Amino acid sequence: MDFSYSTDEERFRGELRAWLQTNPPGTEPSDPKAWVAYAKGWQKKLADAGWCGVAWPKVYGGRGATLLQQIIFQEELARAKAPQFIGLAGLTMGGPVLIAHGTEEQKKKHLRPILTADEIWCQGFSEPNAGSDLAAIKTKGVLEGDTFVVTGQKVWTSWARYADVCMCLVRTDPDAPKHKGITFLLVDMKSPGVTVRPLTQINGDADFNEVFFEDVRVPKKNVVGELNKGWDIAITCLMHERQTLTFSRQLQSKVALEEMLDGARRRQKDGQPAAADPLVRQALSQAYIESEAMRLLAYRNLTKVLRGGVPGPEGSIEKLFWSEMYQRQLDTACTMIGPHSQLLRDSPHAVDEGRWPHLLLYSKGRTIAAGTSEVQRSIIAERVLGLPRG
Ligand SMILES: Cc1cc2nc3c(=O)[nH]c(=O)nc-3n(C[C@H](O)[C@H](O)[C@H](O)COP(=O)(O)OP(=O)(O)OC[C@H]3O[C@@H](n4cnc5c(N)ncnc54)[C@H](O)[C@@H]3O)c2cc1C
Repeated sequence: MDFSYSTDEERFRGELRAWLQTNPPGTEPSDPKAWVAYAKGWQKKLADAGWCGVAWPKVYGGRGATLLQQIIFQEELARAKAPQFIGLAGLTMGGPVLIAHGTEEQKKKHLRPILTADEIWCQGFSEPNAGSDLAAIKTKGVLEGDTFVVTGQKVWTSWARYADVCMCLVRTDPDAPKHKGITFLLVDMKSPGVTVRPLTQINGDADFNEVFFEDVRVPKKNVVGELNKGWDIAITCLMHERQTLTFSRQLQSKVALEEMLDGARRRQKDGQPAAADPLVRQALSQAYIESEAMRLLAYRNLTKVLRGGVPGPEGSIEKLFWSEMYQRQLDTACTMIGPHSQLLRDSPHAVDEGRWPHLLLYSKGRTIAAGTSEVQRSIIAERVLGLPRG
């Protein structure tokens, strides 16, 4: 494992850090409407300065950044406490998928607006009976001349409420085997027949949505790749999702841990700083050990990719360990603030504006999204340990 950076990489970091110092992200508004405007403005600012889609080739408005530069990019944004990209699905999945499989017309129409957040994308894959078993999707697309008529339902569609385009998996050949006969279609979310119903989560946010399609007419030119060959495109999409998430995860939990340590020093417990309490110290030390193990695991996987490997099933170890560790870490943060952890951000008495219970409740979804813990354990058992199929 090589932990050092080249001169070029350090120059990249310096340039970005200087830009972030002059253009700090500011405080995220907690009101959802205000957050959307703020997050769009932030992404546009980055895009105008050439700091969006850093991994995209220069010809498409990116920076052609190397994998290590992408890591530096994520590190510096985490350091500056920048918000999550509102256009994350387009930046990390939609754009790369179009660059690899889109027509020239699709690239011309969508790539720039994805970068500037003028077009927000969402991922319409999961359905009520198709999650882990994604190939079981039932939303159908029937070709009538040059138009598909799409009918069905998606669920857990993050950002659909304010999305302009949905990357939608539709069954276009009902007679083909399950993984065939699926097409990757771009659906304009403003089309007649599209209904979005927000789902309120346990922490009060409503990032998730149900999306209903009733005889939605979608031009045939909106197919990405080939008709009935959407499964391969979906896999490319998921690979981009997982690869991009890999490194930013451990940065996110590291930032949270630093804030927890700071809180333990600042806050009083039984007449002394919480950090002096032996149980708090034990819990924080454990969280630190796990966070370091996670960091080294992330570096090991990164080194493998940098040496010419491809992300393999070992990525499941990282996803599984991180998502469960993050929940434990946030549980510690809530235990530290005691009964106040019952108060969410709408309460004037909430500690740190209710950040810790809000994050803990949100983190519950982390062991589900991008492959559940059970599915990750099966991958590790079968493909890393070589155990027989369960
Ligand atoms: C934060 C978050 C964001 C999301 N965003 C999106 C999005 O933008 N777009 C989108 O399309 N989807 C999104 N999803 C949905 C996500 O992809 C699915 O929730 C996930 O694939 C699991 O599917 P499911 O919910 O249908 O559960 P199921 O697949 O029905 O699983 C139910 C339970 O059965 C277990 N199980 C299922 N199959 C097996 C098996 N073979 N072996 C052992 N156990 C099994 C699972 O582990 C789980 O405990 C999001 C989910 C979350 C939590």
